[in-house]
Amino acid sequence: SINTPSNLTDKIRVCVRKRPLNKKEVARNEKDIATINSQRTVLINEPKVKVDLTRYVEQHMFVFDDVFDSDASNEEVYQRTALPLVEYIFRGGKATCFAYGQTGSGKTHTMLDEKQGLYVLAARDIFNLLRREEFTHLASYIGFYEIYQGQLYDLLNQRKKLFAREDGKKNVVISGLQEYNIENVDALMQVFDYGNMARSTGTTGANQDSSRSHAILQIVLKHKKNRKKFHGKLSFIDLAGSERGADRGDADKQTRMEGAEINKSLLALKECIRALDQDKKHTPFRQSKLTQVLKDSFVGNSRTCMIATVSPNISNSEHTLNTLRYADRVKEL
Ligand code: ADP
Ligand code: MG
Repeated sequence: SINTPSNLTDKIRVCVRKRPLNKKEVARNEKDIATINSQRTVLINEPKVKVDLTRYVEQHMFVFDDVFDSDASNEEVYQRTALPLVEYIFRGGKATCFAYGQTGSGKTHTMLDEKQGLYVLAARDIFNLLRREEFTHLASYIGFYEIYQGQLYDLLNQRKKLFAREDGKKNVVISGLQEYNIENVDALMQVFDYGNMARSTGTTGANQDSSRSHAILQIVLKHKKNRKKFHGKLSFIDLAGSERGADRGDADKQTRMEGAEINKSLLALKECIRALDQDKKHTPFRQSKLTQVLKDSFVGNSRTCMIATVSPNISNSEHTLNTLRYADRVKEL
């Protein structure tokens, strides 16, 4: 089925994006082990050594809904990932776009880059659609928070602690979340910059490193006349570095605790997305804070797009394979 054109309206889409080798990797003469030979396949040439010390290359092939090569722009990625989700929320759906991958593989560049992250490109289109006659009854609200060690912090309100609950219509409500009614890209970027500073420095000093937390930027469409009336929701999620969930025997207690929490949430996420595809009755939402807050994005009218980001260099081959295997499992039925 490799040649079947991928369907942009699938309930779940799993895509891969490869970043270019960076300057350091080029200076070290590192090999690029990720080959993209079609719009849907990625080939990893894993270097291996036999017991008798002869070297060989093991090839791994993966097929996804879309694979973006290192020269793809955010705009190109956007057209085939988040844009269909934008259209979907105007029809009353809930949608989530994730970036999953090791630290340094391009999650933030893809999702939350200040100038051309998928969230800005989506917001640009959302604001334009809101100017259309048919949507003048709707307004967009922006919220930005993070999940660190199973706790929610509002990035737009001095890292205030937040709590998730459900309203009568099974929508997840993040109690106390500061939401801004924003209608243009400049205003959005200002608010986002402010939140991003809270993310990277952290006024509590607890979380100095964005690779240890999940950041969630949400755009909610509400009815102007009744802000409690909810129309649609799009969430962009910059997940914690996937290598953080690894079992690291050498790490200190704090790092191990963080790792255990991240591992739990990434495993629960995978299970919840898989259940979404199979219309399963029992979905393990409660297993992590991440899946609890995303619960309404997995039930009913919902769509999900995962972008697995990978580094191409040889010294990251293990992490790259782990990321591709995780993404593969998400899609596999
Ligand atoms: P992560 O959030 O996964 O830790 P980043 O998004 O911060 O990774 O990316 C690490 C570095 O690589 C950044 O300097 C970023 O600008 C660069 N980078 C990532 N992806 C790309 C890409 N597709 N094209 C060009 N540069 C990229
Ligand atoms: Mg990042």
